[in-house]
Amino acid sequence: MASRIEVGYRLRLSGLLAELGVAQPRDEAEALIGQARERAAEEGLPLEEALARAYEDLRQRVRRTVPPPPPAAPPRFLCDLSLGGLARWLRAAGYDARALIGAKGDALLRAAIDDQRILVTTDGHLLERRLVTEGTVFVVWVPSRMPLLRQLSVVMTDLGLPSLSPRCMSCGGELAAVAKEAVQARIPPKTARWKDEYFLCRDCGKLLWQGTHWERIAARLTEVSPPRTLPA
Ligand SMILES: [Zn+2]
Repeated sequence: MASRIEVGYRLRLSGLLAELGVAQPRDEAEALIGQARERAAEEGLPLEEALARAYEDLRQRVRRTVPPPPPAAPPRFLCDLSLGGLARWLRAAGYDARALIGAKGDALLRAAIDDQRILVTTDGHLLERRLVTEGTVFVVWVPSRMPLLRQLSVVMTDLGLPSLSPRCMSCGGELAAVAKEAVQARIPPKTARWKDEYFLCRDCGKLLWQGTHWERIAARLTEVSPPRTLPA
């Protein structure tokens, strides 16, 4: 396992234990990691999976005890270069998410500050940077090899976010309803026969409609976080 993942788990587990008011969060985090190792050995699980389960159990305990305050406005995200897939799912969940290719460490932190975005990263070391511990930039750490929808659940539950109206998964632009006649030439003939509602991405101009792919995505998002509206 990459040490970056261990570092991330250690820091996030102790952060969550501190939220619960545990006196020695670092020691308790070590104890949880030890238990995950034992569980992995006993049940023949990969250690990463055992750690992910320990993390999810603790997150749920914390969110039940200390629910996150509802966000005043939808946050915007900056995802590191390994999280392009998560950025797409955050857009489907209605959030403005950029994936920054080719930047690491301080450059990522700087980009998040300049653009006033929450940084989503798999780099646990970033949680220890002064800019993060002092609160200049807010960072959500997700384990790198966790499946996409579990990563999405980490972000949404840690921040108490509902699913909103979807954005363009390609670029994150807002979707605007468009009259069928205005885009008739771009609609595949079979689709035109059974669909009357169409949307255009305001940024990249992509044409979308609520087909089976869209419905599958919406169903999976509802499993992760129920839809609700937020102040604009
Ligand atoms: Zn777009």
